[in-house]
Parts: sequence; C-alpha cells; structure tokens
Amino acid sequence: MTETLEPAVLPHGSPLARLFAIAAESATVGEVEQRDAAELTAGHHLYTQYSDTLDRALEPEDWNGHPSVKTNRLEASAVAWLHGGLWLHHTLDISEAYGARDVLTLIVPCACGTGYVEYELEDEDDLIGVLTDLRRTGGHVWHESSGEECASVPDPHAQTTK
Ligand SMILES: [Zn+2]
Repeated sequence: MTETLEPAVLPHGSPLARLFAIAAESATVGEVEQRDAAELTAGHHLYTQYSDTLDRALEPEDWNGHPSVKTNRLEASAVAWLHGGLWLHHTLDISEAYGARDVLTLIVPCACGTGYVEYELEDEDDLIGVLTDLRRTGGHVWHESSGEECASVPDPHAQTTK
C-alpha cells in the first residue's frame, strides 16, 4: 500500500500531457524572446553610446543573444564575435536600487593562448584607449608574469554554450 512518486505515464492527448507540452513550448518561446531582446538591447546600447565606433563597425546580426541563466543569476546577454579571438559581451546589471545598467565588456585573448582579459568599457574614449593599445599588440594582451589577469577569466565559449 506504499505509494511512491513514479513519473506518470501520460496517455497521449490527455489534458496533462497537453499542458506539459504547452509549458515546454512557452519556455522555449521565452528563450527566443530573451535572445531577441538581448540582441536588440546590445544593438541599442551601441547606437546610443558608441555611435562613432562600435555602432559603425558592427551590424545588428553580429549579435548572438543568450537567455538568462536563473541558476547562476545571469541576466540575458548578447555576444558579438569581432575576429582574432576578440569578443564583445553585453548584458544588463539589474539592481533594485539603480534599475538596469548596461555592461559592455571587450574580451581580449591573452598572448599566452590560454586566457582572456576583460575590459568593461566606460564609453567611447575608454574604448579608443583600449583599441589603441591593442593595435600595437595585434589584438591580444601581453601575459602578465603574475598571470592573475588572464587566469581569472573563463573561456567565453565555455560560458555561453552551457
Ligand atoms: Zn595569459
């Protein structure tokens, strides 16, 4: 007479089976909407804050949106591949006190070949400064002997494919 919670075998077409299908579907739709919104938000940020630089260099379709990751408290984000191992990452930092804040990060490969260094960009002047340095080094950061900078940044591929 002991009852265990076994997964219910749902007859095809039963109301519960249909409800589960609807739930699965709406979760997927939610992800697609989050991806689209993340791409639009990233594009809008470039349009309003980086009109002379990034907005001229990137097309809206360069952005790849990713849905939020609830378990890691990560907001939806968008990533743009710039070539040469460089990425642009955009997300929103949402806090109750300050609302939503754009966080735009330039991810640059380290010369050691195993790590990345992140530059959280403040504005166009900041970006120009970083780009000026990167032009001299061919688009990568020289590995610091301490190794702290590049080791602390995970591979963005690993981050975004999960
Ligand atoms: Zn390194």
